[in-house]
Amino acid sequence: MKILVINCGSSSLKYQLIDSETEQVMAKGLCERITIDGCLTHTTTGKEKYSRNVPMPDHNAAVKYVLEALVDSETGALASLSEIDAVGHRIVHGGEKFATSSVLTEDVIAAIEECNDLAPLHNPANLIGIRACMKLMPDVPMVAVFDTAFHQTMPDKAYIYGLPYRYYSDYKIRKYGFHGTSHSFVSKRTAELLGKDIRDTKIIVCHLGNGSSITAVDGGKSVDTTMGLTPLAGLPMGTRSGDIDPAIIEFVAAKENMTAEQVTTVLNKESGVFGLSGVSSDFRDLNKGIAEGNDRCRLAMEVFCYSVKKYIGSYAAVMGGLDAVAFTAGVGENDPLVRKLATEGLEFLGIKIDEKANQVRGEEICISTPDSKVAVWVVPTNEELAIARETAALV
Ligand code: AMP
Repeated sequence: MKILVINCGSSSLKYQLIDSETEQVMAKGLCERITIDGCLTHTTTGKEKYSRNVPMPDHNAAVKYVLEALVDSETGALASLSEIDAVGHRIVHGGEKFATSSVLTEDVIAAIEECNDLAPLHNPANLIGIRACMKLMPDVPMVAVFDTAFHQTMPDKAYIYGLPYRYYSDYKIRKYGFHGTSHSFVSKRTAELLGKDIRDTKIIVCHLGNGSSITAVDGGKSVDTTMGLTPLAGLPMGTRSGDIDPAIIEFVAAKENMTAEQVTTVLNKESGVFGLSGVSSDFRDLNKGIAEGNDRCRLAMEVFCYSVKKYIGSYAAVMGGLDAVAFTAGVGENDPLVRKLATEGLEFLGIKIDEKANQVRGEEICISTPDSKVAVWVVPTNEELAIARETAALV
């Protein structure tokens, strides 16, 4: 089957056309600056990549250009749009309504809309992408794949906050967790690499990218994860603070004469390793700063890795054991220093890193020593392929 995977944001739309039998990417691209002006970048596998400025006053226009790019007689990947068998949409928040992916119907769309206040920046944009695709491909089946669904197996003791219980019953305030498609994909692949049935494994997946989260996957099920009601919780990230003392919000608001909303924007956009280093949210820049002797880059790196290490320790405790740790996403796949600092001193847990193997970037490789009781792997994530697999399975 040929599956079009769509990841629609408020002003951008990423897409991949995947052949679900061969699992090869046939074409991929990105629409940027939707509603501002519009730019399409497209690559059909085996052909030259190109970028084109085209007017995208709304998401319908963006989807129209994507479909045109896919069937272009010279630069496209398909002879006709009728070759697209299904569309898989990445949806950020499925609340408690979705523990699995779902074929899109009007009822499912209404249920996603009901989750809008849990992800006000993301879900409405995801829905606009769904509507735009439905308008232009009315007869093609579509599937919603949720970032939160994989974590719906967490027990209540892991997802309830220590708040008045009615905040949960009235407003559904609880931990949901995100990056679920990636945690699911990487934990499954790690079990395969271990040569074990996933039901017999205890795996910690460290998805470390611009946004970062760690999940304890026990027997193939998410039992705890670091992100919360929103993706702001857990580890310090590129620009997000991660967990802080909640009293800081009021304290900073008073000191800086800001509203709670303004402080939350700082926590989302000006914090994390960016706020700490004062240099960048990008770990390549932090590494460069450290090499040049920049002490705040060192501090940002250490704060991040210290937090990763604490979660590895606590999730080993949560599961009562550990078979493997998997590092994935932009930082996890590419930054040997992060993997080294995050696992240093964990020999007591059975983790021993092979320094030489750890120098690898972006490849699937075991980075623990042969006598390490816990296997440590770098496992490149592939959320688009995971969405294509889910979509193919459902339609
Ligand atoms: P993601 O959100 O998974 O796309 O990850 C993006 C992040 O990965 C970037 O912001 C960088 O911090 C990090 N990254 C990408 N390449 C490298 C690299 N070669 N070394 C260190 N960090 C990297």
